[in-house]
Amino acid sequence: MRIKVCKFGGSSVASAEQIKKVINIITSEVDRRVVVVSAPGKRFSADTKVTDMLIALANCVLEGRSTDDAVAAILDRFESIRAEHDLSQSLMATVETELKKRISLPTTNPGAFMDGVKALGEEFSARFCAEAFTKQGYPAVYADPKEAGMLLSDEYGNAQLLPESMALLHDYLSAIKEIVVFPGFYGYTRSGSVVTFSRGGSDITGAILAAAIHADVYENFTDVDSVYPVDPRIVPEVKEGIKEMTFREMRELSYAGFGVFHDEAIMPAVRAGIPINIRNTNRPEEPGTMVVPRRKTIPGRVIGLACATGFGTLYTSKYMMNREVGFGVKLLTILAEEGVSFETIPAGVDNMSVIIRDAQFTEEVKAKVFARIHTELKVDELAYEGGLAIVMAVGEGMRGTTGVAARIMSAFAKADVSVEMINQGSSEISMMFGIRSTSLKTAVRALYQDLFQ
Ligand code: ASP
Repeated sequence: MRIKVCKFGGSSVASAEQIKKVINIITSEVDRRVVVVSAPGKRFSADTKVTDMLIALANCVLEGRSTDDAVAAILDRFESIRAEHDLSQSLMATVETELKKRISLPTTNPGAFMDGVKALGEEFSARFCAEAFTKQGYPAVYADPKEAGMLLSDEYGNAQLLPESMALLHDYLSAIKEIVVFPGFYGYTRSGSVVTFSRGGSDITGAILAAAIHADVYENFTDVDSVYPVDPRIVPEVKEGIKEMTFREMRELSYAGFGVFHDEAIMPAVRAGIPINIRNTNRPEEPGTMVVPRRKTIPGRVIGLACATGFGTLYTSKYMMNREVGFGVKLLTILAEEGVSFETIPAGVDNMSVIIRDAQFTEEVKAKVFARIHTELKVDELAYEGGLAIVMAVGEGMRGTTGVAARIMSAFAKADVSVEMINQGSSEISMMFGIRSTSLKTAVRALYQDLFQ
C-alpha cells in the first residue's frame, strides 16, 4: 500500500475554514495517512502566528511581566477554532490547563522553558485537527511525539534527531490504522523534556516521518501553487511554476534565499530518496512541484534563477601570490578564527577575494581581520566592499553543455549590468554571478527574459 506523509504549514491550519480544506485533501486519497501540522499561522497579513504569541508569553514569564493578556489572546485564538468546528469543550480545558502548567514550570534553563511553551501551538493544533477529522466521520488519532519516539538532542530551539528515533517512529506509525495527526516542530529529549527544532521546523518533522515510514511521497502543503523559476516579487509576470527539479537543483537554488522551504529541513526525506511534492492547500487540484532524486534534463536548460543581497568582497592582493605556499589557507584560517564563514573564493594570479556575508563583517570584526591580514600575510592591498548581490543560474542540464555562460553574460551586457565575479559550481549545475545590489532587479529580469521567455 502506498503512503503519503502530508505536512500543512501554519496558514493551512490558521482557521476552521482552512482546516476543512485539510480534511478534504487528506480524505480525497487513501494514501494520505500521516498528517503533520504546524501551529495556526496568520489568517490575514496583520495577524500574529500562534508560535509568536507563545514566544511572547514565555518572554513575559522570563522577564517577570504579567502573562494575563498573552494567555487570554492565545485562549481566544483556539476557542475561535473550536467554536467554528463545534469541537468538544474538553479540548479548551486541555489548552488552558497545559498552557498554565507550562508557564509555571521552572525557568532555570530559559531555553528549555521557552521550548516547552513554544511547542504548544503545534500540540494544540494537532489535537484540534484530530478531533475535527473524527467529527467529520474520518477516525483520526493525535500522535503524542513522546509516545511516538520523536527523540531529539537537547539543543533547545535547534534540536537534531537522535538516531534511535527512526525505528521507534516507524513502529509507532505502522501500528496505527487510522489517520495520524502528528504535531510538527518538536520532540522530546532522552530525559523527557520538550525541545523544538529551529523556526519553521514542522517541515523537518514531516521529512523525518516520511523517511521513518518509507513514504512514497512527502507532500508539503503551503500557500503557493509551486516553486517558481524566479522570485515573483522581482519578476511578477512569472506564471509557470517548476514541475520537477532534483534535490541538487533545489539545494543550489535555496542557497541564495530561494524556495518555499528551508532546504535543510527536508534532508531526512532527501537522504531516504523520497520525492517531495510542494503543493497549495488552497488549490489542491494543482500538481505543484516535485523534488526528485533524478530527472530527465534538456541540455543547456536553466531551471531556476535565485538571487540574494547582503554579500561583500574581501579583496587581497600581493605580488607573486601564486608562488606563495599556504596563502589561501592562512587567509581562511584568520577568517575562521574570527568567526567569519565564506561563500566562495574567486582568485587571480596575484589576488584572492573572499565573498562573505555582510552581516558577519561588523566594524569590530573587520578591524581585527584587517589587522591580522596585514601583519600575518603582509599583503600589498586589502579592501572590503559590501553591497554585493549574488545571482545563481541553476539546472542539471547545464552540466557538460556549452554556451550557457556566454548567453548569461550577453544578457547582462545588454542590460548594462556589470559582473564583478563569476563562479561555476564544481557540480557544474550552477553558475554564480556577483553584481552590485543596486542592479539586482535589472539583472534578474534581463536573465529571466532571455532564458525563460
Ligand atoms: N510553528 C513553528 C514556527 O512558526 C514551526 C512551523 O510552523 O513550522 O516556526
